[in-house]
Amino acid sequence: MASESSAIATGEWHPANSSRAVPAILREEGVLLVAVEEGRTLASAVPERIEISPRVGSIPRRVRFPDGSVFETRDNDGVDGYLRVRRGPRSGLLHRLEKFHPRLILMTLAVILLATTIYRFAVPVLVEVAVLVTPPFVPDLIGSGTLASLDRTILKPSDLPEGERQAISEGFSKLAAQSKGGQGAYRLNFRDGGVIGPNAFALPDGSLILTDDLVKLANGDREMILGVLGHEIAHVEGEHSLRQLYRAAGVAALVMLIAGDVGSGVEDILTQGGALLALSYSRAAEAEADRRSVELMRAAGYDPVALARFFAVLEDKLGDHRDASILSSHPGTPQRQQDIRNYAAQSGGRLQAR
Ligand SMILES: [Zn+2]
Repeated sequence: MASESSAIATGEWHPANSSRAVPAILREEGVLLVAVEEGRTLASAVPERIEISPRVGSIPRRVRFPDGSVFETRDNDGVDGYLRVRRGPRSGLLHRLEKFHPRLILMTLAVILLATTIYRFAVPVLVEVAVLVTPPFVPDLIGSGTLASLDRTILKPSDLPEGERQAISEGFSKLAAQSKGGQGAYRLNFRDGGVIGPNAFALPDGSLILTDDLVKLANGDREMILGVLGHEIAHVEGEHSLRQLYRAAGVAALVMLIAGDVGSGVEDILTQGGALLALSYSRAAEAEADRRSVELMRAAGYDPVALARFFAVLEDKLGDHRDASILSSHPGTPQRQQDIRNYAAQSGGRLQAR
């Protein structure tokens, strides 16, 4: 094959696993790339089986043959000239794209816009499908996993006197009895909340966690506490926390979940306590839970607007906007308190003097 022989670059050839350097020339001979020394072939291979290192400044280029030997050259232009000819059509396309920046930018924007749109519409749909197909053991798994994880990290056993806990638990039972799931669907857990301060939240399995600080903040006004618990029951009834978790879990986890593959990966995502605490419900979910608290409280024979009083006290005494505080997920704005009072008035029941 003496035809079509042309030199690409001059440099040195190193045998495999050897530091020996032989002055050599890299040539293209027909379909073969060879390193030669005074007419003697040192190594050869078809171009597809040869690795050529990318151009990085003036660092010597390395051309690796399948036998492990390496041709090294400082003639970057020679190597690039060869690559340009060989990859003709491909580099040509890149070149054209580079020349037409505006079109490239537009194309990129269009792709991003399309992806964002699909994501925005697909995630809510996936979330609803996932909620629908969620087998009952999944909320249980999430609930117990999350509580265990929180107990290991943030929460401590409650210091409240037994009598106080008993009294709140009794009120809670009356309240939960008015819910859709009935009393048996809910469990109230008392904890010292540590950094999360005065707080209450619900897990998808019907476990509610109430912190000592919240009980202390209520300062003996037990109905205030029950108003908050009614609100949390509503989050469980509406499957709000399940939805929020699914939303946070991401598309991949949702697809796995819908496909029935509740593997350890999905479990990890869904049972991380921190993830749940960092979630905040949508305003619509909050408003729905507020109204439900009014209904549950009234049905159980308590002050329907106790929740509004609680928010007033919370903002008053705390005025605190720490990320993990109940206010970050439950802003107790005056408007919100008014909405609760308005709903209580509209929905019939007598407003208790206050
Ligand atoms: Zn809420």
